[in-house]
Order: sequence, then C-alpha cells, then structure tokens
Amino acid sequence: MAQRRAESRSDVGSPALGLFDRFATWAASARVSALDLLVPRTCVCCDVPLDALDHRVLCRLCIQRLPRMPSPHCNRCGHPRTTGSCRWCELLPAFVRAVRSVCWVPGGTAGEIVHKLKYSGWTALAAPMAEQMARLNFPMDVVEERDMLVPVPLAPSRARERGYNQSELLARLLGAHWNVGVVEALVRRRATETQTRLAPGDRLRNVSGAFTTVIGGRDLAGRHVVLVDDVITTAATLNACAKALHEGGARIISYVTFGRARAAGDVP
Ligand SMILES: [Zn+2]
Ligand SMILES: [Zn+2]
Repeated sequence: MAQRRAESRSDVGSPALGLFDRFATWAASARVSALDLLVPRTCVCCDVPLDALDHRVLCRLCIQRLPRMPSPHCNRCGHPRTTGSCRWCELLPAFVRAVRSVCWVPGGTAGEIVHKLKYSGWTALAAPMAEQMARLNFPMDVVEERDMLVPVPLAPSRARERGYNQSELLARLLGAHWNVGVVEALVRRRATETQTRLAPGDRLRNVSGAFTTVIGGRDLAGRHVVLVDDVITTAATLNACAKALHEGGARIISYVTFGRARAAGDVP
C-alpha cells in the first residue's frame, strides 16, 4: 500500500505519507537524473558522448567513416565496375535482378557494427543500419516493382540462442522506410554449418537446398521479392534463398545487405 502511494504523483508530499516513503520517492527520482548526468550515453563503436536528447546509438562520425561501396559500380550487382564482363555478376542466378550493399566488411566501423548486432545483442544498431540501406540507389524498375521483403532465416537453434534474427530486424525497419511489407517466407530445411569458416565451394554445398518457402505459391506468384541480410560474402546463402523463392513462384529477386565482403581483386 505504501509503495502504491509512492508511485502516485499526486500523493508525493501528502501529509499522510511517511517520512521514509517521501525520502524513497525523492531518492528514486534523483537516482534516475543522477545516472543521466554521471553516465552519459556514448557511441556503441567509438565511445564519444552522444547528445542527451539524441536517441541514436551510433555517432555521426562512425556513420561517415563507413567504408562505402565505391562508384562507379555495376548496375546489376553493385560491385565496383571493372573492365570487361562483371565477374561478381557471374555469381548470381539469372533471376536475380539487382544487388546493393552499403559498405565493405569486415574491418573498421562496419565490421564492428555487424559483429555487435549479431553477437553482442546490440539490436538498436539495426535502426541506423537500415537507414543507410534504405538510401541505397537501386535501379528504377526495382524501386517500382519491389513488393515484398523477405529476411534470410536463421536456423531455429541459432534463433533461440540469439533471441532475434538480425536480418528480420533489418527487414522490418527497411520495410518501414520503403513502405514495403515484410514476409517471413523462408525457413531452413536443415541446419547448416556457419559459412564464415568455409571455402567458397564448400559454402555453396553447405547451403544448397537448405531453404524452403513456407507461404503459398499464390502469395509469391509473379512478385519481385527483395531478400534482406546483414552481410553478403560469396552470395551462396542469398542465392540458395533466391532459388527457393523462385521455385516457390517469385518472378524476380533482388538482394539488399548492409555489408559486403571484398572479392579477390577488389581494391581495399
Ligand atoms: Zn562513434
Ligand atoms: Zn555486376
């Protein structure tokens, strides 16, 4: 009863309230403001203090320092343009229309951001990441046609362990920017080894046939789906997802990721 009174703003200072209750109320409110003063919020990556009214978790400098994908780039795969045919495009199935990524990973701020989102529970980082992804320059036909965002699914065991799917977080936030709906249209048919320790050929074998659609063919028929993931490396995972969506009825698929691993020959 005493606690309920203390929580009620109108009761603070009431003569009926005991001295101890009044002290506890004052101490509780003082502790909150003292914490704000004594432990100012800092940037997740570089520890510079953030403005008290700023609700972001990353400072502007860390966003500016992202090693962005350079221009000119291939209009289809978004990789830096080289002379002759685009070697990165050769990784993609014919039904993949366009791929865009914000910046190179790993290394520097970008790698740290991805690592903290995936392995340190910093889910708030998904917001500034999705904001940068939303600004990517996709070909006009993709912008006009994209009508469904699908996150790359995690294995159920990893989803349980992590408590969230970082690709789904990115997709939901990106969907709000683009005004495009998010559908968890894919599941992992079988557990796969983590791709990070595998050679390119093994990555392909590891994820081949690992995904399947869980929505009806009618929901996918004729649609231009954008697959969302945190990082693209050899495109093996995204290609396996795209194949499942295409077999499930999707007409065309594009990819959007925050980070992209450099391929052999890419300028650092
Ligand atoms: Zn920073
Ligand atoms: Zn290309």
